Amino acid sequence: MLFTMQIPFNKPYFPRTSMMAFYRAAKAGSMAGNGPYTRKCQRFFEERYGFRKTLMTTSCTDALEMAGLLTNIEPGDEVILPSFTFVSTANAFLLRGAKLVFADTLPDIPNINPKQIEALVTSRTKAIVVVHYCGIACEMDRIMEIARKNNLVVIEDAAHALDSFYNGKPLGSIGHYGTFSFHETKNIFCGEGGLLAVNDAASEKRAEIVWEKGTNRAAFYRGEVDKYGWVDKGSSFLPSDVLASFLYLQLKMLEKIQGKRIAHWNRYNSLLKPVEEKGLLKLPVIPSFATVNGNMFYFTLPSREEREKMLIFLRSHGIMAVFHYLPLHSSTFFLDKHDGRELPFTDRFSDCIVRLPFYYGLKNREIDYIVEMVGRFFNQ
Ligand SMILES: *Cc1c(COP(=O)(O)O)cnc(C)c1O
Repeated sequence: MLFTMQIPFNKPYFPRTSMMAFYRAAKAGSMAGNGPYTRKCQRFFEERYGFRKTLMTTSCTDALEMAGLLTNIEPGDEVILPSFTFVSTANAFLLRGAKLVFADTLPDIPNINPKQIEALVTSRTKAIVVVHYCGIACEMDRIMEIARKNNLVVIEDAAHALDSFYNGKPLGSIGHYGTFSFHETKNIFCGEGGLLAVNDAASEKRAEIVWEKGTNRAAFYRGEVDKYGWVDKGSSFLPSDVLASFLYLQLKMLEKIQGKRIAHWNRYNSLLKPVEEKGLLKLPVIPSFATVNGNMFYFTLPSREEREKMLIFLRSHGIMAVFHYLPLHSSTFFLDKHDGRELPFTDRFSDCIVRLPFYYGLKNREIDYIVEMVGRFFNQ
């Protein structure tokens, strides 16, 4: 009997105890934000990664918007960021009136090229946003040095980069702000959720105010002030404590989740090595300063045509492989606002990346089957 495996691109992992999380939060009588589980999650991140202060948000998009507010972006300020990223990296600053200046990636890694950043800095530049694609660190020493020299704020979009490191330093802890996502497609999740890490001492207090709709309510709850009111700009960025309770369960299993995801990554990588050695595809390049955190697995093919054929071939064998990131600089929305520079490496990654199914519950035999089908594609 012929049997085709059906392997989705992502399958969120619900621990058996998931329902307990909702029950516990409801039992504690806390469903609004900034409740006991929100604080437990924040303490976990601060203690494990040494972030100065963390605030749970409803998404990484929200954490980025908070970073935009805290950076005091004014209309006309320039923000340098990669074009090869998710739209939220850009929208958060565009919403504050920033002029977006898109930089190209490195030739061999889909991370921002520091040389490009250096060339794009002007007297109007206010901030640099970097994205650690696939959890693989950007060249943070060089980027922080450019920022110091030009007095710029650095925001790390670490949506892929939880539990990954640059020269031993946790990603998201190096720039002024780090932003994380707990969307269903990330290493750990609560459906929709995020985190802002505030590493800049000067904005620690203000971050909490922006988070609480521009009020000093958080300080009021701690008994530091006897009434609370409107003290600054802000919005509602707090997730329900029910979601924090769900996330907290995953935090308690973080070692186990990460261990398994990294093992999946290593299995894909070592099984595909012989295919790379034949020159048929390129595996991810991991610089010596970077770590692998099992965020996703991708490889690149020589052309867009071949990539399209590969995706169709894999799907015909039940494997939901996908491409990644249409460049922002040439998007429908931004094309006429872009300054016209070519970003060839961004275009190439966008044309040539294949992302393979990747999730906690993926079985070794499924990985083996996927790799076998990748090999069969080249042998047809
Ligand atoms: C997923 C992702 C986001 C957005 O995260 P949400 O939590 O869904 O808002 C932002 N940036 C990057 C690089 C992402 O991958």
